[in-house]
Amino acid sequence: MVEITLLGTGGTLPVKGRWLSSAMIRCMGTSILFDCGEGTQMAAREADLPLGGVDILCLSHFHGDHVAGLPGFLLSMGHEGRRTPVDIYGPAGLTEVVTALRILAPFLPFEVRLHEIRTDQPVTLQTIGHLSVSAFPLEHSVPCLGYTVDLFRPGRFNVEKALFNHVPQPLWSLLQKTDSATDETGRVYTRDMVLGPDRKGIHILLAQDTRPTALLEKMMSGRALCILEGMYGSDDKREKAVETFHMTFTEVAFMASRAKPDEIWFTHYSPSLPDPETYIEDAQTIFPRLKLGTDGMKTILTYPDDSDC
Ligand SMILES: [Zn+2]
Ligand SMILES: [Zn+2]
Repeated sequence: MVEITLLGTGGTLPVKGRWLSSAMIRCMGTSILFDCGEGTQMAAREADLPLGGVDILCLSHFHGDHVAGLPGFLLSMGHEGRRTPVDIYGPAGLTEVVTALRILAPFLPFEVRLHEIRTDQPVTLQTIGHLSVSAFPLEHSVPCLGYTVDLFRPGRFNVEKALFNHVPQPLWSLLQKTDSATDETGRVYTRDMVLGPDRKGIHILLAQDTRPTALLEKMMSGRALCILEGMYGSDDKREKAVETFHMTFTEVAFMASRAKPDEIWFTHYSPSLPDPETYIEDAQTIFPRLKLGTDGMKTILTYPDDSDC
């Protein structure tokens, strides 16, 4: 299962009831934080999420509303007992920005490992068991990354296949847990020799501060949940969205109508949008499975086809 929590849903500036946009995903003992604007540590506390448990920090880009909360967040992680290394990913400029911000948090009881991602295509950042975190480029006024979290699900054990491949019975159970196993003669067997085809896993996408792009639309396809910016509600703001490299509700809805993810949550609302509910119905006529994200909104996704997850 994958737990997703929106910590904040504000873009540019925090407003009453909206911390700056940030989200946390927890899955199989790994916690991933997406963006860290000012106040993110407060939002995480309000959502009852342990700061010290964050293993991976994915930064979209270096506008203040996405990174200014980093020094305080790192300090709180240390106070909460973090001692093992933390990986921070972000686009070009990561090292310079985080090094500067760390002047405010120079002494941390854990190692901070920086990974600057320069890419024009999707790239896998980390794979932990069946969980994989990847980044892909967006189109903003500065280098900006979207992220995907994929929980892959291997196929079921297939006795006929194991027998057909002459896999010794004592290795059957082991090969359901590891990639390969060796018998006493040194012969190597791989897990695909005993498992059926991969089953549908859980796939999530997060992208903010971007214009619509062909790659983003492609990446949205087949996802259980896409968390996307809803910077502007009204179509009257389209020109402004183009100028500032953001999106309107209907621009997102049109991409979704083609990519067909299971569900979309809006986040990163402009401070000039106090009433996103005014515009959601129009966007839902284009793609019905749109929801307005709110601070603290949470869901737990399980494997789609049965309950043994
Ligand atoms: Zn922003
Ligand atoms: Zn921005």
